[in-house]
Amino acid sequence: MDPGAAENPCVKLTELALRHGFTASRAVDPAKIKIYRQVREACTEDKCKAYGKNWACPPACGTLDDCGDRVRGYKSGIIMQTTGILADEFDWDGMWRLGAEHSAHIAGFSDAVLPEYPYALLLGAGACRICETCSCPYAPCRFPKKRISSMEAYGMLVSEVCTAAGIPYHYGKGTLTYVACFLIS
Ligand code: SF4
Repeated sequence: MDPGAAENPCVKLTELALRHGFTASRAVDPAKIKIYRQVREACTEDKCKAYGKNWACPPACGTLDDCGDRVRGYKSGIIMQTTGILADEFDWDGMWRLGAEHSAHIAGFSDAVLPEYPYALLLGAGACRICETCSCPYAPCRFPKKRISSMEAYGMLVSEVCTAAGIPYHYGKGTLTYVACFLIS
């Protein structure tokens, strides 16, 4: 092992991510993560049915400029993937199951790391699903320290972030990959 690896928190974090069920994890330099207004604007099409109805989604998650400033304030980080195989391109149940697995991996990882990294930024895929029904916009977020925005809400092009980390996003025909990232100071 590289002698510097023992002190590099990303080495430990990627190992921890794999122990929590992610199928791949790799360090990423936050300085290489680009923020795109077009990605954020796609949220307004409301395909997820969460725009304006989830505290972790736009517009409640903050302006894109604020999100970009926040990302640029971190010095290192990792990305984490959950990849699975679908029966076919219409395997909606398989997609849902894989998304639920990815959320479970994120929840386990989050519980393990947040005590040590309370100011870190954990971003996942899709709306925050910690509560069965989000309280937005009628009442404050029930778990503001635990809520998880998506990488897309922060304007990230997920495939590009994977490339920046030197890890594939597409694993071949019939596969689907969900991605999360964890940025630390
Ligand atoms: S923690 Fe609950 S209330 Fe807060 S954003 Fe997530 S789902 Fe909504």
